[in-house]
Amino acid sequence: MTVGRGVLFKKTTVEECWQLDMTFLSKQVYLEEIGYTHVHWKSSWGKRAAITVLVHPPKRIKLQYNVTKRSTGESTDYSYYIFLDTTPCYFGKRRWWFNCPNCGRRCRVLYLPDWATHFACRICHDLTYESRQEGHSRWMALFRAMNEGFKLEDKLRRARSPRSRGRIARKLSRITGGLQALLDYDKNQRRKRLR
Ligand SMILES: [Zn+2]
Repeated sequence: MTVGRGVLFKKTTVEECWQLDMTFLSKQVYLEEIGYTHVHWKSSWGKRAAITVLVHPPKRIKLQYNVTKRSTGESTDYSYYIFLDTTPCYFGKRRWWFNCPNCGRRCRVLYLPDWATHFACRICHDLTYESRQEGHSRWMALFRAMNEGFKLEDKLRRARSPRSRGRIARKLSRITGGLQALLDYDKNQRRKRLR
């Protein structure tokens, strides 16, 4: 999977993250015995990701995946434990939860945002739900990113030393990436609405 801060000037939403959902995982693999499963994702904008989940009872899983940084192309393997928790539910069954590896909070879903390398809960990654920032703020973000882009283009034209040109160019490409992500996102949302 590829990471890199794609969208600027706004909080990441839960929809923009890879989501490891316990409701799904506990159906896909038996959590009481040693075993493993693969979890695959395909985002609404066509990106794919996959992780391996190894079950190490009691109440522990290990996540394994590889992350490629978008900016440098550098690829890193990650492998770490996540502790699980259970609460009783009807008919002697148990309900499974993740303990967020960062804060320890019990949660049903762990998230991996585009710019992060580790799964954690919604609060630790400071994520927001989609509906809260639809509309106005999205357009403001687009507007601000475009403005910033124009300013940088101007600066780039005036810059003399290769070093500062490089610095400005990198900044500009980050913003262009962010802009593209915002535009793609809007296109996707519109397409969804049309369907
Ligand atoms: Zn947390």
